[in-house]
Amino acid sequence: MAVQLDPQLLEILACPCDEHAPLLVGAPDDPQADVLTCTSCARRFPVVDGIPVLLLDEALDPNGGG
Ligand SMILES: [Zn+2]
Repeated sequence: MAVQLDPQLLEILACPCDEHAPLLVGAPDDPQADVLTCTSCARRFPVVDGIPVLLLDEALDPNGGG
């Protein structure tokens, strides 16, 4: 099931990367994933119990393989 976030909350959320870019719900290759994807750096942030974890340390780097 896709992440359910208040659109107004999503609007004020931003990636902690240098760009502070907006976030998209889900991942480009998996819109149902429980993650938020940065529109700039493409890092993916897990959503735990409906709470986005916007920490670079917790982010899934698409290039990191990790
Ligand atoms: Zn970012």
